[in-house]
Amino acid sequence: MADVTKRDYYEVLGVPRDAGEADLKRAYRRLALENHPDKKPGDAEAEERFKEASEAYEVLSDPDRRARYDQFGHEGVRHGGFRDAASVFSSFGDLFEQLFGGRAVGGTPRGSSLRIDIEVPFGDVAQGAERTISLKRLVPCETCKSSGSADGRAPERCTTCDGQGAILRNTGFFAMREVCPHCGGEGRRVTKPCTTCRGEGKVPGRRDIEVRIPQGIYDGATLRIPGEGEPGVRGAPPGDLHVRLHVGPHPLFRRSSDDPADLLVDVPVPVSKAWLGGQVEVPTLDGTVQVDLDPATPPGATVRVRGGGLPRFQQGGRGHVWARIQYDVPKKPSRKLKRALEALRDVEGTEPGPARRAFEDLVREHRQNGDQRDRS
Ligand SMILES: [Zn+2]
Ligand SMILES: [Zn+2]
Repeated sequence: MADVTKRDYYEVLGVPRDAGEADLKRAYRRLALENHPDKKPGDAEAEERFKEASEAYEVLSDPDRRARYDQFGHEGVRHGGFRDAASVFSSFGDLFEQLFGGRAVGGTPRGSSLRIDIEVPFGDVAQGAERTISLKRLVPCETCKSSGSADGRAPERCTTCDGQGAILRNTGFFAMREVCPHCGGEGRRVTKPCTTCRGEGKVPGRRDIEVRIPQGIYDGATLRIPGEGEPGVRGAPPGDLHVRLHVGPHPLFRRSSDDPADLLVDVPVPVSKAWLGGQVEVPTLDGTVQVDLDPATPPGATVRVRGGGLPRFQQGGRGHVWARIQYDVPKKPSRKLKRALEALRDVEGTEPGPARRAFEDLVREHRQNGDQRDRS
């Protein structure tokens, strides 16, 4: 019976048909890490890809089965496939030990990693800071000291699988290795479960966790705090906590998208100062500095204040402040200002600047072309 829905194993792993052992392993490692159920909990599609890649790797990494697959296709290596992520782990114990630091048959599953998002005030990024976050998560059970046993006794070896965590099932063609249904793959069983944690060794609780905000960290960065994820089952190693930082706004500055240590600020200046030149006050992270403005500074021109920005993340040194000059336009000018502007109007019409001259030339040309268009 041909299974037409099954994808070609080489295609699944994205490797050529003559790929070597190392290439296969590298491809599988990448896919497994990408779609690992710990990374994407509850993502059914990712789990499906994970299983598919695992099945492809299981076949292609075995020279005999690979040869059969090359000759006969999926029919040559027919097996049940992986029903769930746990049965993948049971077949790839060693490899997963390398990949994920151990969640394999014969061991208690390590705790899953957690991800949280926190808001960080802009000032914390400028100074660096220590924050305490209070996190609701599972914590080790105090009653049984994480053992899961009511009497404090260590879990006993599972008799169904003889401590192996897996059993062999005969499918008719092949003997398949399967997760032991009795102990769930651990190889050990709690005989008298702790009533507080129902034998899991962990209970819902709350933890205060210290998070160090590094100076100059960029918005959206994720900090990894080892061991602060969920505790493992019955004292197995915990997962990690991933803290994603959302940096709050600053009332004056925006961070540059080119260099997050650089700060942008709009500085409105009186029009006469932009025309005639003079000093303007520009804010920096430390206070303000006086900056000389050239005569005839157009609106939108930028002035750089070296070293006035944020500390560079992990590099040392500081970013710059880029002051963008804006013309200040009073909405309701006083009578005095109005008179001055009217006097300006009488002369400025006859003294265009370079931008206006270039623009008026182009407009004139455009109008003449328009005249020709109308005639044709
Ligand atoms: Zn307990
Ligand atoms: Zn068992």
